[in-house]
Amino acid sequence: MIRMAGSRVALVSIGGTISMAKKVDSGVVPNLDAESLVASIPELREIAEIKTVSFRMVPSSGLSMADLLALSGEIDRLLSEEVDAVVVTQGTDTIEETSFLLNLTVRSDRPVIVTGAMRDPTNPGSDGQANLIAAIRVAASGQTVGLGTVVVMNDDIHHSIYVKKTHASNPAAFSSFPLGPIGWISEDRVRIALKPVTERLRITVDPGSPEKEVLLFTALLGDSGRLIGHAAELGYDGIVLEAMGAGHVYPSILDTLEKLASTMPVVLASRTRNGEVFAKTYSFQGSESDLLRRGLISARSLDPLKARILLYLLLRSRRSKQEISNVFKNWV
Ligand code: ASP
Repeated sequence: MIRMAGSRVALVSIGGTISMAKKVDSGVVPNLDAESLVASIPELREIAEIKTVSFRMVPSSGLSMADLLALSGEIDRLLSEEVDAVVVTQGTDTIEETSFLLNLTVRSDRPVIVTGAMRDPTNPGSDGQANLIAAIRVAASGQTVGLGTVVVMNDDIHHSIYVKKTHASNPAAFSSFPLGPIGWISEDRVRIALKPVTERLRITVDPGSPEKEVLLFTALLGDSGRLIGHAAELGYDGIVLEAMGAGHVYPSILDTLEKLASTMPVVLASRTRNGEVFAKTYSFQGSESDLLRRGLISARSLDPLKARILLYLLLRSRRSKQEISNVFKNWV
């Protein structure tokens, strides 16, 4: 067993399937805290010195932005005062959003690894223990220092900028298409094969800043789209528009979108959740060039779920519409 000399890792549990060993009626609910997770796998303590922090006990659909900003602050505190790396265990349903939020808000360069389980501990073939061992190995190896937040699932190491949950139940649900994982775990070895070429964007959110809400709106065939016209009166501060294909919508919402874009950031992303939004290929009414001319901001290659997190953090950090637009413009 390889143990990096002196590596201290904090295991921060926030709930999810990995922690659901208790049956209520016929289903499971979270009940294992960080200490119980570590106690169930004695070999973890042979890989690193582990500090346990039970931060929340919820399914990941029950997490709020306030929970996640508090988690980010707690991770920075642990990394600056007590440990060399942090592993977060949580529900897989929202890992692609939570890990991206941590990537943008944690200030430290030390390793932050997020993991979970697709099958709960009462299920044959449950993957939680294997994922946790792999995540602790990655943390203790120190190989992700400076890489930002990564997600370890099924012996793959994904970068939080690209990782997506692509299946409701398969243990191999996570992918980073079009790139693939940045590394893997084999036996007790941790391999990093790719590193981001750009510097990590860090956003500081003042906890006292006003709460913001970003609407994710999907353009649908045959829909009137009238709901989006109520976004401002419903109190939304920004919108991510999941447009068709490379950034297209039906003509009936164009005037509404133009009006909204003059008062709040409206980010144009693709509902295909893959590939880059176009800028100048089509010029029909409702095309990408039409929408950009009407003041929408291109999400470029950013997945809509992640664009929503980025927009939320930018709004919370009091950036102007022009500054928000510049951040998206510089996104690779
Ligand atoms: N199915 C979920 C999980 O994988 C539940 C959740 O996200 O909390 O953990």
